[in-house]
Amino acid sequence: MRLQISGLKVAHYPFLTRRSCFQLQLVAQKETLHHATSKLGENYMRTALISILTLLLAGMASAGITASPDIKVDQVGYPPNSQKIAIVTAPAETFQVKQASDGAVVLQGKLSAAVPDNDSGDTIQAADFSSLRKTGVYYIEVPGVGRSWDFAIRPDAYSRTYYLAMRAFYGQRCGTAVDLGPEFPGFSHPVCHLDARFHSSSGKEGPVHVTGGWHDAGDYGRYVVNSGATTSTLLRAWEMFGPKLASIKLNIPETGNGTPDILSEVRWNLEWMLKMQDEDGGVWHKQTSERFCGFVMPQDDHMPSEIMGTGAPPYKSSCATANLAAVAAIAARVYAPYDKDFAARSLVAARKAWAWIEVHPNVTFTNPPGVQTGVYDDRVCSDEHLWAAAELWRTTGEPAYNRYFIENYRKFRPIPSVGYAVGWSSEAVMGFWTYALTKRTGTDPHAVADIRQMTLATAREIAERTQNNPYHVGLTTRDYEWGSNDFAAHYGILLLMANAFEPNRAFVDTALDNLHYLLGRNTFSLSFVTQVGSNPVRHPHHRPSGADNNPEPWPGLLAGGPNAARQDRVLASLPFLPPAKIYVDNQDSYASNEIAINWQASLVFLLAGQLP
Ligand SMILES: [Zn+2]
Repeated sequence: MRLQISGLKVAHYPFLTRRSCFQLQLVAQKETLHHATSKLGENYMRTALISILTLLLAGMASAGITASPDIKVDQVGYPPNSQKIAIVTAPAETFQVKQASDGAVVLQGKLSAAVPDNDSGDTIQAADFSSLRKTGVYYIEVPGVGRSWDFAIRPDAYSRTYYLAMRAFYGQRCGTAVDLGPEFPGFSHPVCHLDARFHSSSGKEGPVHVTGGWHDAGDYGRYVVNSGATTSTLLRAWEMFGPKLASIKLNIPETGNGTPDILSEVRWNLEWMLKMQDEDGGVWHKQTSERFCGFVMPQDDHMPSEIMGTGAPPYKSSCATANLAAVAAIAARVYAPYDKDFAARSLVAARKAWAWIEVHPNVTFTNPPGVQTGVYDDRVCSDEHLWAAAELWRTTGEPAYNRYFIENYRKFRPIPSVGYAVGWSSEAVMGFWTYALTKRTGTDPHAVADIRQMTLATAREIAERTQNNPYHVGLTTRDYEWGSNDFAAHYGILLLMANAFEPNRAFVDTALDNLHYLLGRNTFSLSFVTQVGSNPVRHPHHRPSGADNNPEPWPGLLAGGPNAARQDRVLASLPFLPPAKIYVDNQDSYASNEIAINWQASLVFLLAGQLP
């Protein structure tokens, strides 16, 4: 799916369209842990071990240890039974793995033959230390080059990162005071964005009590379409990995209320999405100010938060409405064991939204005149419509939804194997997977077999491509564009879905490869997640991180990643570079260093799938 905007050909991908429009308007403003267990002792031990590990890694940084950026590892770590590879980009022959505590050599080996990597321009040798399975903290030493950052080998290597990444959503909460507590003193803000009203484009007027939800990205807007993609990814993580996630405490205000914390956090956003539904069932597209505020804390953004519509009847957009239909249908089944009333309310909303899109299947949204905030201008809503049908079928078992899916799904074949075709605007594949996981009499076995076969074939293709890529990442050359880190995470999601259909160690290892890329095994030797790893991103395009007094950014946030399309001044000023190198850890580089809830959710899914 491609879009033409003012003669520029741009991929049909989230922020690219959003920001490209923005740019074309010549707006120069600075856009600017585990298995559920009742064994208290085991939990305690695990927490203690994680704390020790964290201290060790922090101690390394404070001890002034300098790692060579030419030795790239996952700075968080590797599960014991997984494939373990470090990348070396300076000429050398051998490597050693050493124990961090005393420098004892625990493994030594030869580096692989050097190969060029066209995407980064690096010459690459691999250090394979898969045979090392003993739990511990280690580093790689390469004679003549130096040493790597420390990393862990342990079954729960990603528990802490999952905690930070999922808890980052709490930090994005709007309409309430937020405080990350004694663990992160100073990371807090008072209540924000209570001044809400209808924009003239919405078909209504006056003040309205619509608050809540998550700030979308580096800005303080809230957009139903991206909210839907985000929320559904998190609920899918719950549906697939719930037993691993149920007992993980996020230390949020709802902790201890009897509902798993991940579901309580997601509900914060669901409640806002439900408020965006009009009485006729349609859903307004977004709630934002008319333009982006400067780099201020959320409570200091005093522009009214306005509910915006299409400017003409029926005012609501089909993509936003279909998103709510799908997400509320998931909520109806996921929350039923914990809050029957909320589940029932969600189902009513989903049915009303479905009825609305049946009448208005293709009402699309563009920014009203004078409005400069994000657009999320999805021009095709039939994929969201299909997705809603699958979710409603799975939840209700009513034949009309099944019929719609069977009659329409073929239009969206095959499942794309490249990242730029997947994202918040392309949701058919979410519908596919939901349908294939539905165990109801009447589910079409031919469609299920087809979807499984497509998913497995795509997963094999991605796995093979990743194993052949010098950096062991699934990204293709053209994937290095806006939100490339989300593409890497999405490859992981697809591989974990394929593994659910047909367990295959190669799928899990390849999903891990994409996680290793995000956590430091990349050309920059940089963890793209704030406050995670010894050399993380420090200057994300994220207003609270830029405006508060803390030296470090808010924790657990994933940056957008390298972007060869260079849509901001920072990237535009770079010299000629290969695509994987077009990234700067600079707050002003919104096209490569912005955080966003949709790729945050992809990271959470990938991490959830790797928890023990
Ligand atoms: Zn807010």
